[in-house]
Amino acid sequence: MKKLKIKKLFMKEFQPIPQSEIANLAKKGELGLYLTKTAEGLTPPSHEPITISNIHLVEKKLGLNLPFQTSFGRFAELVRFFPIITFKTVDGQEITGVGEAPPLPYPWYDGESDGLTRVTLNEYLIPRIRANSQREITSILDFREMSGINGIVRNYMAKCGVEGAYWDALGKLVGRPVYRLWSNEEKYSVEAGTSVGSFNLEDALRRVKTAVETGISRVKVKIKPGFDVMLVAAIREKYPDLKLQVDANAAYDLYNPDHVSALQALDQFNLLMIEQPLANDDRYYHYQLSEQLNTPICLDESIENVRHAIEAIEMWARAGILNRLIINIKPPRVGGFWEAVKIAKVCEAVGVPTWCGGMIESAVGKTANIHFSTLTTLPGDHVSQGKPYFQEDVGETPRYHNGVIDIPQEPGWGLKKVNILKS
Ligand SMILES: [Mg+2]
Repeated sequence: MKKLKIKKLFMKEFQPIPQSEIANLAKKGELGLYLTKTAEGLTPPSHEPITISNIHLVEKKLGLNLPFQTSFGRFAELVRFFPIITFKTVDGQEITGVGEAPPLPYPWYDGESDGLTRVTLNEYLIPRIRANSQREITSILDFREMSGINGIVRNYMAKCGVEGAYWDALGKLVGRPVYRLWSNEEKYSVEAGTSVGSFNLEDALRRVKTAVETGISRVKVKIKPGFDVMLVAAIREKYPDLKLQVDANAAYDLYNPDHVSALQALDQFNLLMIEQPLANDDRYYHYQLSEQLNTPICLDESIENVRHAIEAIEMWARAGILNRLIINIKPPRVGGFWEAVKIAKVCEAVGVPTWCGGMIESAVGKTANIHFSTLTTLPGDHVSQGKPYFQEDVGETPRYHNGVIDIPQEPGWGLKKVNILKS
């Protein structure tokens, strides 16, 4: 196959800003403006024009090996959506890419659900892509415009699924793994952590033990009021040196003194971070809480776009506590990989650590997250405890071994044995 010509491969790289300069910009109230301009200056790879010759949607219900429990509910199966798009070059070559939209079943986490994702894909994004299929696409910016991603508010999962198909196809067209469309640096593996979602002490400890036995690079446990200090103390007693962090999924309240005392009590356990203790649309109260804790706060649900990330960076920097901020970047939670790349680059510029959380994706979304994780700095949520996420997945997930997961080096996502592409 003839390779598509890339006109400009990757963007002007961000230069890290020296700490003294960050403090200075923050004091003058100019850090937000500076980072906004920096994010706007990022330019994606641009290439010879392509158009779209076909799009269809595959929907699969996948049973989980380990039902997932969070502070908002328990689920045993998930519906995953796979937009499959065929692109055409000017000389008539066709290449197909796939993405994944991974909502939770009910609007617990971010207001999205499988029903809403189905409607957004079938009634808005796919018809719009069909209507504009002959428009020339020369970068992700064109694709986001023609597909309606730019015009649709929220509905992040669906937008990420559609965008994923573009990146997979572009990687195949230019003969590069997707992660090397975002950075020129070759990498072979990323550190893999696990997320333990169980509110039963014995079960949670059993899952942590299984994960530790596989050499996992770090463990995250879900907490909620009344199931926090006791859980962490029990884990620390057995594993004093384990890289450990907690995720509260918005279950705490800054104005409840018992909640704040419990979070403060977690400071003694040398945790990497406390993730999303407060409301899922809040950044300001998280910043206030962060002033009362030594453990860094990680924002997850609160970050839906690069603007939110910049806002948080500016607040923490003004208070001189930027070393207590971490951001979990999930491409599906921010509406796609391009927005996720921008967030990662802005965080990198100011030294805020990042990692890639999971939405319990199938092999497709998981593989895409592995590519994205090359731009982050801490271990991501990439593996379950002992068993794969799904009883029957749609393809093969990149290999996990001793705390790391391999990055595919084949063009596109480098997916293996993906059965949905044939349908
Ligand atoms: Mg989280």
